[in-house]
Amino acid sequence: MAVILSTAAILLGVLAVSRGLTSSGPLKKETAIRETKAPIYGSSVVGTDFDFITDADPSAFTRLEYVGFQKFEMPDKRETGEPLVQDAYLFNAYFSDGTKVGIALDKDFGSRQAAEHDARRYTSPLGKLPSLYRRNLKHVVVHTGGADTTSFAEDKGHFFVIYSDNATKRIGTHDLEETFFHEGTHASIQAKYIGETAWQEAKKADNAYITRYAKTDDQEDFAESALFAYTLINHPERLPAAERDRIEKQIPNRIAFFRSVFAD
Ligand SMILES: [Zn+2]
Repeated sequence: MAVILSTAAILLGVLAVSRGLTSSGPLKKETAIRETKAPIYGSSVVGTDFDFITDADPSAFTRLEYVGFQKFEMPDKRETGEPLVQDAYLFNAYFSDGTKVGIALDKDFGSRQAAEHDARRYTSPLGKLPSLYRRNLKHVVVHTGGADTTSFAEDKGHFFVIYSDNATKRIGTHDLEETFFHEGTHASIQAKYIGETAWQEAKKADNAYITRYAKTDDQEDFAESALFAYTLINHPERLPAAERDRIEKQIPNRIAFFRSVFAD
């Protein structure tokens, strides 16, 4: 992801320079107008210092239950050569709204105790997701290691995959909750809404993106925009007033779209 983004940024830089060297007045003016609609941020989670979701936010988590050491699909984007279906430590997390989310942990944790210790780091962020998300999210897959391997989601399978050492980093920068929200958006509501006219019309009407990452892909746009919209709707005071104003002007139609989705 970082490599792709920096390549895009470099390409844009090159284009800007070559245009500046060869273009006459009117073209420069056109470029300036286009730039006012450029994405505001690089990315939502790592690219800003906003604490969209905080340590102190209430979590709906109530209890963790051990299901067993059993075969489970454990997709891994690192090329480890391991089979898709492996033994895993399987837990169910329960929440006060009656929802349940599975947590499947890598056999390489080595013991139920070690797996449970890791699983307990994820129950609170899961409990801070909107209830709507937990109703649609089936489970989370957790691999050991992967300090620099970013999480990913499967929208139609309704799960996401995280790497334990990367999660440790995200906890250190207060970004784990936001990572869960981003992946949770892909894994819960995205499949239902992304093909809908309402979403596509909102994008068209905004004619701008909130982050450069959102601009790379419709699915990333959906997840990136959801986090900004959710915070603006529920915790506007967490965004500085000037930033709030910019965001509301940049993607007003997407915010309205998510306001109706989150009211569900
Ligand atoms: Zn994403």
